[in-house]
Parts: sequence; structure tokens; C-alpha cells
Amino acid sequence: MKPTTVAVASPAAHFKKMNLARKSRAILFLLASLTLLAPSYSAEVGELPATMEAPQPKQEPAEPKQPGPAVKPPARMPSAEVQCRERLTELDVTFEEHEPLKDEMGCSASYPVTVSRLSETVELRPPAVLTCAMAEASARFVHDHAGPLTRGAFGSDLAAIEQVSAYVCRPRNGSKKLSEHAFANALDWGSLVLEDGSRIEVQAHGSAAPRRSRLVKAIQKAACGPFKTVLGPGSDADHADHFHFDLARRRNGGTWCE
Ligand SMILES: [Zn+2]
Repeated sequence: MKPTTVAVASPAAHFKKMNLARKSRAILFLLASLTLLAPSYSAEVGELPATMEAPQPKQEPAEPKQPGPAVKPPARMPSAEVQCRERLTELDVTFEEHEPLKDEMGCSASYPVTVSRLSETVELRPPAVLTCAMAEASARFVHDHAGPLTRGAFGSDLAAIEQVSAYVCRPRNGSKKLSEHAFANALDWGSLVLEDGSRIEVQAHGSAAPRRSRLVKAIQKAACGPFKTVLGPGSDADHADHFHFDLARRRNGGTWCE
């Protein structure tokens, strides 16, 4: 680019001082410089479209997101599920539909619900993700057994169940087999809250708290049948501080209560 800079720098001032020969040489030099520059300039011009094409943003349209079956609520629910929901409504259970559950590990539930109340008066804290069948079994158990047993023992109505585990994608403790929690088919009760505000933890209360001890044992015993698996204080170390209730299907249709 130097020739151009020299040629165009204040040409008028230079010409006045130059003789004719020098002027002629200067003009020739100027013309030569312009001629030499011309090809490179046009080359640059010629390259422009190519260089301009490169940074163009990609015009590919974004792929439309296909709603996967895992997040799309079922268009048609099996009649058994519909009827189960009708029974939940009759039992005054407060629930919402939850999206289908599916995990690489094999955890799944096709039509789970989120339950926040097991009856008009008994709250489930925090709301739990359960199969409709498990929600119904829990509501019936509270209505038929846990509620009346609590009222009988303490003279105060059951106001809430504090749950410590519902749907969780995990294997059973010490096993590779998936827990019933992995199918939203289990609910663990950590404590009972009474209408008068008192709280009864699920644990072996012992002789220091005989009423609590009797109530926990009575509920655990009554649960065998309404639920297919019942574990709690006295079963093993894992269940010393909560009830585990589930609806696991067994070949003989039996129960497993410890
Ligand atoms: Zn459990």
C-alpha cells in the first residue's frame, strides 16, 4: 500500500516545485502505482462475496420439539384409573394428576397422582406422588383404621400424616431389586399430627410413653392387609423411625408384615 500513500500525499505542493521531466516521471509513477493497485483491489472485490458468505447465520430451522411420551399426559386413561380417581373423589382425597414417570433404571408409573390430602380433614405432608391405587389404599386406611385408632387413643382427631418417602427411583436397601417406591407404590409415614397440635413420631416409644407406643403398634398391626407390605419399628434397623406401606404384588396374593 506504500505507493498509494506516496502518490496521493499533497500532490499540488510537490508539482509546483518539480521540473517537467520530474513531473512526467512522477505522473508515470502515479499511473503505474494505480495500475498495480487495480488488480489487487479488484481481487479483493472479487473475494468479497466469498468472505461475506462465511459468517452468515445458519438458516436451518430449529427442529420442532416432539413431546415425548414421558411428559405428555395420557390422552386416554384406562378405565380402571378413571374409576380409581372417582373413588378418590368420593373419599374426599385432594389430588392432582402427575406426569407419567419413567427412568433409565426401570422406575416407572404410568398414571401417578400427587396427593395433598387423604380426606377432608387429614393432610398428607408434604404432598406425595403415588399410584392411584396406593393413594386410595392410604385414604381408606386413614379413614378405617389410623383415624379411629388415633381418636381412640388420644381423644383428638388425626390432622396430618407426615410422610418421609413416596415416589423415589431407587433400589431396595441392600439389594439390586427396585423398591416399590420406584413405582410410586409405597408410602412411608414418619409421624402423625393430631388436631390438638401434638405430634407422634413413628418409633418404638417404649414404656416411657405407653399411649404413643400402643398407638404406633396398633397402626402397624392394622396396616397388614390393607397394605401388602408393612414394615416399621421392630422390623429392622432401616424402619426403626417410620412405617413402610406398599401394595407389592406377590404370587400368592399374600402380605409381608414384620
Ligand atoms: Zn419405604
